[in-house]
This record gives sequence, C-alpha cells and structure tokens, in this order.
Amino acid sequence: MRVLVLGAGVVGTATAWYLAKAGHEVTVVDRQPGPGLETSFANGGQVSPCHAEPWANPSVLPKMLKWLGREDAPLLFRWQRWDPALWAWGLRFLANCPPSRVALNMERTLRVALYSRDCLRALRAETGLDYDQRTEGILHVYRDAREFEHACGAAGLMQSWGLDRLVKAADECVAIEPALAPVSHQLAGGIYTPGDESGDAYKFTERLAALAAERGVTFRTGTTVRALIADGGRVAVADSDNGPLTADAFVLAAGSYSPLLARPLGLRLPIVPAKGYSITLPAAEGRAPSVSITDDEHKIVFSRLGNRLRCAGTAEMTGYDTSLNPKRWQVIRRHAQSLFPQAGDYDKAEAWTGLRPVTPDSVPLLGATRLRNLFLNTGHGTLGWTMACGSGRAVADLVSGRQPDIDMAGLGLERF
Ligand SMILES: Cc1cc2nc3c(=O)[nH]c(=O)nc-3n(C[C@H](O)[C@H](O)[C@H](O)COP(=O)(O)OP(=O)(O)OC[C@H]3O[C@@H](n4cnc5c(N)ncnc54)[C@H](O)[C@@H]3O)c2cc1C
Repeated sequence: MRVLVLGAGVVGTATAWYLAKAGHEVTVVDRQPGPGLETSFANGGQVSPCHAEPWANPSVLPKMLKWLGREDAPLLFRWQRWDPALWAWGLRFLANCPPSRVALNMERTLRVALYSRDCLRALRAETGLDYDQRTEGILHVYRDAREFEHACGAAGLMQSWGLDRLVKAADECVAIEPALAPVSHQLAGGIYTPGDESGDAYKFTERLAALAAERGVTFRTGTTVRALIADGGRVAVADSDNGPLTADAFVLAAGSYSPLLARPLGLRLPIVPAKGYSITLPAAEGRAPSVSITDDEHKIVFSRLGNRLRCAGTAEMTGYDTSLNPKRWQVIRRHAQSLFPQAGDYDKAEAWTGLRPVTPDSVPLLGATRLRNLFLNTGHGTLGWTMACGSGRAVADLVSGRQPDIDMAGLGLERF
C-alpha cells in the first residue's frame, strides 16, 4: 500500500520506519529542510514512562493559581488571548483533573509509554542506532520537604501500578549522581526510576530517517501541505506547495499543527501548542550530571547528551508563537545554575523553543478517523519522544489492518 506520513518529527519518522518494515511504500512529507527540525529538535531528552503523569490533576489547580501572572511560572496560561479553541481546551483540561480521570488517563498514557520503551530497546538492538542515549534511569530531586513527602506518596501509588519508583535520601541521590554533591545540603530527597532512559531525540530522528530511507522510504522535505482534500469519505489528496500528493492511506503526524490540517475535514482535534524552552551548553566533564535529572519543583529536566548538557522546561499557552522570550529561557538557566553551578559553560548556552502538541487529558490521539484512510498519530504533549516508537508501531499496525500489540481502547479521537 502507498502511505503518506504528514510530518517528519520523531513521531512521523518512527511511524514511517514501522510502516516500511511492514512492507508499505512510504513517503514522508515535511515543510522543513530535514527531519526532526521542529518540536523534536531540542527537547528534554527524557524517555520517561515511569513519570508518565497527566498534566491535569488535582494538585495543578492550586499551583496554577499560585503561578498566575508570573512570567517565571513553570506553567503559564495567557488567558487574555481570545482563542475559543484554547478556552474549550481549558474546560476539558479542568474536567480531567478529578482523581478518577487522572487514574484513567495515567493508565492510557502508561500503556503507550511502556510499550514504546520496549519498542525503542528492540529498535536499538536491531539497528545499533546511536543517539547519545543513556540508560541509567532518571532521578527526580526535591529541595522542598513538603514536595518530597508528596512525591513519596505518589511513588507508593505508582509502585502499585508496577512501576519502579524508588524513594532515595539526599545522600543516596548524590551516590546516584555525584554532580549533585555541591547542593547535597539543600536536598530533601529524590525519586529514582532506574528503568527510564534519555537521549537526543533529534539525532534519533535524523538517523532513523536515514535508515528508513535505506529501506526505501522517500522524504519529501521542504514541502508544505496546504490542505487535505476529502472525497467520498476518504482523503483523496494532500495539496502541497510542490504539487498534489496521493496515497492509499494518510497518517497525520504534524504535531501541534495537526488540528489545522484536520479541521477543514470536519475533524476537531483537541490539541493546543504548549511552548517550552531548552538551553544546551557544553558540559564540564565530571561536574555535569550524567544521569538524567528532573528538578520537580521547577519542572526542569536535565539530560546529558554526549559532551552537551540539555536543560529544558516551562510551558506557556501562547498560541503558535515560537519567539524566544529571554525572560522565559533565563528562568531555566537560573534554576539550572542553582542545581548544577559548575556543570558547564552557561555563557555558551544555546536557547531553543518548541511547541508541545498537548491534549487536555495528556493522552495522545492514535488511530482511525471517520475518513476511512486517514489515521492519527499526534497529540503526544510532553512525552512525544517517550511514546514515539510505540505509537509509531501501533499506528503502523492499524494502517496495515493488523491488531497492535497494545489495546488501543481510549487512545483515539472517539474519546472526545
Ligand atoms: C521544551 C520541551 C521539552 C520536552 N521534553 C521532552 C522529554 O524530555 N521527553 C519527551 O518524551 N518529550 C519531550 N517533549 C515533547 C516532545 O518533544 C514532543 O512531544 C515531540 O517532539 C512531538 O513530536 P511530533 O513528531 O509529534 O511533532 P514535531 O516534532 O513538531 O513534528 C511535526 C512535523 O510536522 C511538520 N509539519 C507541520 N505542519 C506541516 C505542514 N502543513 N506541511 C508539512 N509539514 C508540516 C513540521 O515541520 C514538523 O517537522 C518536550 C517538548 C518541549 C517543547
């Protein structure tokens, strides 16, 4: 079958890989000059199924009130923008905050994320792909005793879900990551998930795309899809600035831009862009962390990518604006320097911003639509790198008419 994948981010590229493995004739189209150049470019690098927690939960509301109007807030809603889609999304987000919804959303996210980690490991074993990966786990650290206590409670709950979340005292945190030694006296403790990983999502995407191309996948980069045109209950053609693109099946993997392509087809995807920032700096050997770290109170993640340190975080609901606001990225730099003062050359930090494609329940949108040959693989929010391989493989199975390895119930558009 001829399949057109819309979007060459980490999600679209992984989908193309599994589609090619299933024997399809695959083309991937992207407006950028190469794969992985938008949100998948400089993200936090964590492959973190053991921390797959939905944004919408009971504790986020008091936090949001506390952060309201603060330019340095980890999560910033610019509600003054009159955007009906954002307000509708916000109401759905609120509806997903009660504990019963959190448990449901967590199970759905974990189903994809844990499967994805298995797929990533299998892919690595099969291809030998190298992307500055590290497999020593992820350590969440806390300086506030109350936050740590709360995290210990959540760890107990997650252990009952079968996740390896280990509570660690401050000195044990330093034993796991010696680069924390200069701030050990400030630490209340940490939560360690040895099964989590990290790595450079961009390197992964670029290298997987090269392997996919060797398998016959065509990448039509520098090509913008202007519209999907339906006929008789199917997508007939993708109209692009380089001419019409036809296929037997289409997979929409355009990240935050997926709703814009779906809407004219009568499909309303509840995805909004949540802008995040990262800085990447040359790492000081022996003083930069090598285990991936999350500063949970400030929602900042640290991943060691070869001789670089990536620090990423913050979320801002501000539409499709990707401009670099110095106030926002300097927050990351400040928090990074307070936790790892000697980790590298902060003056050489390169700032970047990307738009996470976020659904109100933090579960991606995977699977069929009412257009018979259009499939969704989008809306992965904060965990697109974590879930790319699993959702790519599952959606490739659906396109091929095969039963995916995981139950797809509750992952599709029909839940909205
Ligand atoms: C600051 C930050 C930190 C993050 N940290 C992590 C992390 O630690 N772990 C994790 O798992 N996830 C993380 N994420 C989330 C993760 O990066 C995203 O979920 C993921 O990159 C989404 O991948 P995607 O392929 O869906 O989207 P994208 O990478 O955005 O790919 C979509 C592609 O579609 C193309 N496109 C869009 N519209 C069109 C069109 N009309 N025509 C042609 N091409 C089009 C774009 O050019 C783009 O290449 C983070 C995100 C941010 C912003």
